[in-house]
Amino acid sequence: MTAQGLTVPEHHQQPHSPALCLPSVRLPSLCLQCAVQRLEGACEPVALRKFIVGELTAIIEGDGQEFLSVVRCDTSFLERFLFAIAKQLHSENEQLQELAISVCMHLVQQDSSQCSLRWFYEEVNLQLLENLPAAKCLPHTILLGRLLHHSAEAACHGEWEQLQDTLVRSLALAMPSLQSALMYALVQLWKGLPQVPTKSTLKSAMKQLLQALQPSSSLDTMLNGFVLLKSILTSQGEGNLADLFAFGSGDQSSQLSPAQPLTNLVKKGLLHQDALVQATAAQCCRLLLSNRTVAEWCLESDMAEYLLETLAMKSYQRCVCWFGSKDFSMDTTLSLFEQHKLYHAGAS
Ligand SMILES: [Zn+2]
Repeated sequence: MTAQGLTVPEHHQQPHSPALCLPSVRLPSLCLQCAVQRLEGACEPVALRKFIVGELTAIIEGDGQEFLSVVRCDTSFLERFLFAIAKQLHSENEQLQELAISVCMHLVQQDSSQCSLRWFYEEVNLQLLENLPAAKCLPHTILLGRLLHHSAEAACHGEWEQLQDTLVRSLALAMPSLQSALMYALVQLWKGLPQVPTKSTLKSAMKQLLQALQPSSSLDTMLNGFVLLKSILTSQGEGNLADLFAFGSGDQSSQLSPAQPLTNLVKKGLLHQDALVQATAAQCCRLLLSNRTVAEWCLESDMAEYLLETLAMKSYQRCVCWFGSKDFSMDTTLSLFEQHKLYHAGAS
């Protein structure tokens, strides 16, 4: 680095193109060819790479269209640039990973041709399919979720089934931050696609989700987990909700309601200290109670006692969660209470 800008004059076999030199924020100018060379190098210090990626983010934020027109002058340079940025996701430095994700997203948002969106999508997809160790997958999965949030349809181009299977299967990886990122990516994928997932996919996702959330989970995992649960319940459709619970445990003698694992989870959500987790858990409750068979299973488990205790304790916040949900079917629930001889419990 020199006082004039980021250059490596001693290495220049031929001078770098002045067209690829852009005004920068903390430097008079930034030579993009030099920047890419530094980012490609395996031995460059993390501090220097963080500095370069930070400058690139600021330049793209300032005038993304100008930046794109400059890097597009040479197609092979554009590809080299994208590759150099994606390479930073493999760094072990979390700040550098975050900066790299940020510059990717700034570029995607400015690029109306969606070429960079497709390129980054294919790159992260490739890395995830290679079954990297869980910790190495995290930055790629976070970027994937954001790309899908930007435009799932444009990113996947109709090729999403293999990705969906990978995401569902990877929920079994016992790393809360990765599980949380996978859940987010799955919700964004389903939100952006024109068709709903198949029943067998929803069942697998439900099974993996229950296993991921049953142990004590981080706030992010709980929140994204309940958003994913809501997405599964909504995609399955009210009439077919009961199909989600046939996990084939083979334990015919079990006295437990088929919905017990899920009602336990929902209670965990309703009792959570975070208001957003509570509210999302309440929305999931409403969806479960909209199906008569599932609602009866919920009442066969200790969900009914929990509700009555909540009412008896006058825990209004939780009551609002339960009964204040939009179009919550109070009449249906009360008639189910009556049918199960539970409704009279509070009568004098
Ligand atoms: Zn240069």
